[in-house]
Amino acid sequence: MQCTKTMGGKVGAASSKMKDLDTSEDEDGSASLAKEKQKLRKLFGVCPLCKSCHTYKRKKDGDIWPSDRMSSCEEFRKKSEAHRASLLELQ
Ligand SMILES: [Zn+2]
Repeated sequence: MQCTKTMGGKVGAASSKMKDLDTSEDEDGSASLAKEKQKLRKLFGVCPLCKSCHTYKRKKDGDIWPSDRMSSCEEFRKKSEAHRASLLELQ
């Protein structure tokens, strides 16, 4: 009897915890978003030029997300400018 009672209490606590998670959609959402971002960061890796992870501001909600676009790299922009300049000088 005692055992059943304890188990019942445990189940009750667990289900109330789940309810908490259910109502706090923001927390759950940002947790999975953070995981998603971490996944992307790993996927894109660090930039070979500036050795840091690039990010971009998502237009939809202004959220900052990892980016694999070289165009968001300041070093790349500087380099391409230098490249352009040297090309112009050669002409
Ligand atoms: Zn970079």
